Amino acid sequence: MAKVKGAIVVDTEKCKGCEVCIPVCPEDVIAMSKEVNHKGYHYAYMKNPEACTGCTNCGIVCPDRAISVYRVKVSA
Ligand code: SF4
Ligand code: SF4
Repeated sequence: MAKVKGAIVVDTEKCKGCEVCIPVCPEDVIAMSKEVNHKGYHYAYMKNPEACTGCTNCGIVCPDRAISVYRVKVSA
């Protein structure tokens, strides 16, 4: 059976630290970094990358289009 696994890539310089992406993730993948980007915003990152299913919720809600979602099939 092929399973689908996801991954997100956050464009840290586009992220404005609004945190809208955090509650929409059903897998609790996203957290805010302690570091800041060059505008001084904390940016989103994958604190729990193994749990991402590639559902795209986070990419859809991000008002700054800072998240790219990738889906990969992995054979179980
Ligand atoms: S794609 Fe879905 S599971 Fe993965 S981080 Fe975004 S909201 Fe969470
Ligand atoms: S929704 Fe977009 S801009 Fe807001 S914290 Fe998440 S990645 Fe950053």
